[in-house]
Amino acid sequence: MRACQSQRLVDMVERIYHNVPFYRDKMQEKGLHPEDIKDIDDLKRLPFTTKQDLRDNYPFSLFAVPQSEIVRIHASSGTTGKPTVVGYTRKDLNTWSEVVARCLVSAGAHKHDVVHVAYGYGLFTGGLGLHYGTERIGATVIPISGGNTKRQLQIMHDFGSTVLACTPSYSLFLAEAIKDEGYKREEFKLRVGIFGAEPWTENMRREIEERWKIKAIDIFGLSEVIGPGVSCECEHQDGLHVQEDHFIAEIIDPISLEVLPGGAEGELVFTTVTKEGLPLLRYRTRDLTTLNYEPCKCGRTLVRMKKCTGRSDDMLIIRGVNLFPSQIESVLLSISETNPHYLLIVDRVNNLDTLELHVEVDQQFFQDKISELQKLTQKIQGSIESTLGLGVNVKLVEPKTIERSEGKAKRVIDKRKY
Ligand SMILES: [Zn+2]
Repeated sequence: MRACQSQRLVDMVERIYHNVPFYRDKMQEKGLHPEDIKDIDDLKRLPFTTKQDLRDNYPFSLFAVPQSEIVRIHASSGTTGKPTVVGYTRKDLNTWSEVVARCLVSAGAHKHDVVHVAYGYGLFTGGLGLHYGTERIGATVIPISGGNTKRQLQIMHDFGSTVLACTPSYSLFLAEAIKDEGYKREEFKLRVGIFGAEPWTENMRREIEERWKIKAIDIFGLSEVIGPGVSCECEHQDGLHVQEDHFIAEIIDPISLEVLPGGAEGELVFTTVTKEGLPLLRYRTRDLTTLNYEPCKCGRTLVRMKKCTGRSDDMLIIRGVNLFPSQIESVLLSISETNPHYLLIVDRVNNLDTLELHVEVDQQFFQDKISELQKLTQKIQGSIESTLGLGVNVKLVEPKTIERSEGKAKRVIDKRKY
């Protein structure tokens, strides 16, 4: 693997130095020439790339091939400003199908499966990424895309979908709708879920596995790097195997930018050594995780990254306390009377940060007496305070009143003006 990565890195540096002015300038600033990069140990000498660099070079200035070689464009919908644009050559699309195929196989899928792809199709990479990976392994793909829950369940039911690919929050939403649509769980053939595109916790995994009676597998990717398929869990669900012959992973200290040793937590960085359209050198993902180089029980030797439960971007700082929305989710999932649907509203009143948490209560508890509901409010507040050391104003709301998302779940509204 090291020999393969070294060779591919040397080739990549040569390509981008000559074809992407941005990288040539960055390397020259560091006094680096392509011949200085001899193997993987030289990776740490190379410059980083950030999301801001992609924005500054919007839309196509970081592409390393002429426009005529680009056969597809995807873009991620930035929450603010311009989207991040990614161009793929024919070889890139081939690589992408290959890595997604590996992910599907590691999740336990095979050619006899019917894969229900409920990720959005379009500029977002989720739908088409899973689509071509499914075709690559010879399974049957149902390109249903997101939305229209009633139709999703009808088709899953009637076509006998065995694998579901969507966001973890949407899979829970579908599970909730089974009964409402007049079905029974036993009437579905689903056995595996491949979920990604948003961070989710172990508690959320248990909830999904219990409700759907399936194995819930975490798949990871980001459009800048290729899309879904950068890494994926195997059946042991003990870290996501990184397709490191294509994407070299490093963990850095986000402040000092030093590379951290195996096992240390820090920011995940990827170098896309085989990509032609948009090759990225040491791309800072903002995801916080650790890398595990120990062999896995499944026999794969690919390095494993720990499930990402937070991004340095998603972190809220409330009254000086660092908070990830996933921590709130973990607390709620440990309380049986609530549903894992919540909304955090952050505001600033008289220069003091306020935190309000809207939580859906399970139908059977919502009919309880006011005093019972008050007790539950206190229980949630107490639980969050003792786990996170943060006071929160909890508001219980009726089941299914928090807006459901068919893409990434919206968990936070931050009204503070900076
Ligand atoms: Zn494994």
